[in-house]
This record gives sequence, C-alpha cells and structure tokens, in this order.
Amino acid sequence: MAQGMHYLQIPGPSPVPERIQRAIDHQVIDHRSPTFQKLGKEILEAIKEPFGTRQPVVIFPASGTGAWEAAIANTLSAGDRVLMVETGQFAVLWSQIAKRWGLQVDLLETDWRHGVNPAEIEGRLAEDKSHAIKAVMVVHNETATSCATDIAAVRKAMDAAHHPALLMIDSVSALASMPVEQDAWGVDVVVSGSQKGMMMPPGLAFTGISQKALAASKTNNLPRSYWDWAEMLKFNENGFFPYTPAINLLYGLKEALAMLREEGLENVFARHQRLAAATRAAVQAWGLELQCADPKAYSPVLTAVRMPAGFDADAFRKVTLEHFNISLGMGLGRVLGKVFRIGHLGDINELTLMAALSGVEMGLKIGEVPYKAGGVLAAMDVLTGESKKLRLSA
Ligand code: PLP
Repeated sequence: MAQGMHYLQIPGPSPVPERIQRAIDHQVIDHRSPTFQKLGKEILEAIKEPFGTRQPVVIFPASGTGAWEAAIANTLSAGDRVLMVETGQFAVLWSQIAKRWGLQVDLLETDWRHGVNPAEIEGRLAEDKSHAIKAVMVVHNETATSCATDIAAVRKAMDAAHHPALLMIDSVSALASMPVEQDAWGVDVVVSGSQKGMMMPPGLAFTGISQKALAASKTNNLPRSYWDWAEMLKFNENGFFPYTPAINLLYGLKEALAMLREEGLENVFARHQRLAAATRAAVQAWGLELQCADPKAYSPVLTAVRMPAGFDADAFRKVTLEHFNISLGMGLGRVLGKVFRIGHLGDINELTLMAALSGVEMGLKIGEVPYKAGGVLAAMDVLTGESKKLRLSA
C-alpha cells in the first residue's frame, strides 16, 4: 500500500521534520571559510546542551558505531580490562568492537529484560583491588530491549567502590529523548548519533569527552588516525574540522538544536514519557508482554513487545508493512523473531502514535495473532487523561 504517508516507527532512524529537511537542502559551502567557521562554532557550542555538559563534544561524519570505536581507540591500551553489561544486542556489538581492539572484556550477563544492575557493578569493581579495570562501558538506553539504565546510579556504584575506571556510556538512542547529564552524572565519554532523538538523518556521530577521558587519551597506546580526538579538538577550537565535514548535515543539526531549544528539553522528555506510557498501556491491554520486565527501566524512546509463543515477529511486521505502510522495528540478536519494537521518539506526537498503534492492532487481527481488542482505546485513555491534567494545571 503506497498511498498516504509511510509510518516510520522503528527506533531510529526516526522521521526527519520538514524544517530540518529544508535546512539540509542548502548549497555546499567552503569548509575553510568564515561562513563555515561561524556555523561550526555555533553548533559545537549548542550541541553541549542535550549532552548536559560544558566539556567538548566532537562530531564525526559517521554512524554511532564510529563513535563507539573512537571511544575505545582514544582512551584505552592494548590488553586493558573493561567491564561491560550485556543488556542487549547493542551491548553485544560494542563489546565485540572492544574485543577486536585487543581489550579483555568482563561481560556481565542479564536476561535482556533489565537495565544494568549498579550493585553488580559495585561488587565487581570492589573485587578489583589492583584497578585492572580501566573502563566501565554501558548502554544507556538498550534499543534492542527497551530497557534503560540509571546512569547516575552506575556512577554512584563506581564511587562507592572507590574505583578510578572511566565511565563510558552509549546514549545513541537516549540523546534528546531522555535526560543525558554528562557533567552531573560524572560520565567520561558519551557516545551518540544523529538519527534518533535528534530527528536528523543518519550520518553524524557525537562524543562528549570529559577532562579525565582527555587525559587518558594523552597516554593510552591504541592507534587511531581518522578517529583521533586530539586532531578534531585542535580544529574545533576555531570552529573547523580536520577533514571535510558533513556540511549539509551540520546545517540540519543547527535547525534540530534550535527546535529542541524552542520546545525545551524538559518538554521533549515529558512528551516521550507520555507517548511511551500510552504505548505500554496499549500493549498491556492487548494482553501482550513487554520485553522490559522492570517498570523502573521502561524506555521513553521505544517499546519492545514479545510475540506470543509460536508466532513470528517478522511475519507480523510484514503484515503491518504490507497492509498499513508502517515499519516496526525487528527483534535483534537473541530476540530475533520473538520481539517487535515500536519506536516513539523524535518528531512524534499523539496522533502519529495513535496511527501507529492502530496499525499494530489491525495487524494483530489480520495476522491472527492472539490478542485482546482495546489497546488503542487504552492508549487514548492515557493520552486524554494526561491532557486533562495539563488543562487543569494551566
Ligand atoms: N547503540 C545503540 C543503543 C543503538 O541503538 C545503535 C543503533 O541503533 C547503535 C549503537 C549503533 O549506531 P549506528 O547504527 O548509528 O552505527
């Protein structure tokens, strides 16, 4: 079905608002010119706000995976031990990169239905009397499972163990959809990307870098060239880049940051929470199970839904795509075929979500998946209840 609009309800890339599309539609300019310098300075300053930092944030022309690799190459040395938690497929992928770089990875297991357990981190670090562990690396919002981690609690656990390891987090699917407070939480490296909460096309990878991470980058021994923070920071000081930047995406980023500022980050986060609550109400009314088993860890960004036993998530996604022109996220890694994911991030409002949930409910019916009717109504109840509260308090 090709008529009407396509509903891109995967948890990133997320739809790009017209304002940002128009901003990207710009003649290319000289990246060594004063015009570019002004743009560079502006965005390198403005990008700090969603990171909750006053420290440098670098922007690579890359996907988030590039920033994952850069975080490792710039801070660690061959043979270093790092502590990671297998919250889901994205934690698995980051740990694979760490292994390929010759690091020794201590990977704590989970059931892929919870976020990171800070007590476990504290216990493992407390045992590490010789401080062999050089970094704790965790995924902030695990996009494969829709479980988020309380990063402030992870920091607290590290402090309680009096351990000096760097704290590196993957906020690829958290940035600009839920709070990221790099400085307040004491995070040394925050890795992210443009194609999710930032409402941009894929193609930019961001990294927030603390002074401690910067100091580590001066003495570590892993090789890097393209990914070298030092070279990037040297040029960024004057608003420039060491090589040709993704100029047009940077025009888009300027617009995205302006949109986030206009709405106000607190309002952006509240909107994501509201839509996530409505989505979970729908799933529960359908009688389906949420992949995330810990209510404290429920993600405001996406909702992963478990298929009833014997029903294939990808066959279901095919039905919704063919009948209702909606893309839902697939199950990744260990939950392939067992889970589908509803993205509710970025440029999304109540009616976009209601359309998406209608598509899911009709898909369940057409696909003959066992479910109870009423999920869409349950979501509307959440949304109208919320708006009534908002009216009364206005
Ligand atoms: N980390 C998380 C949590 C993600 O959701 C993703 C992508 O979905 C990545 C890392 C990888 O980013 P990219 O696909 O931009 O390389």
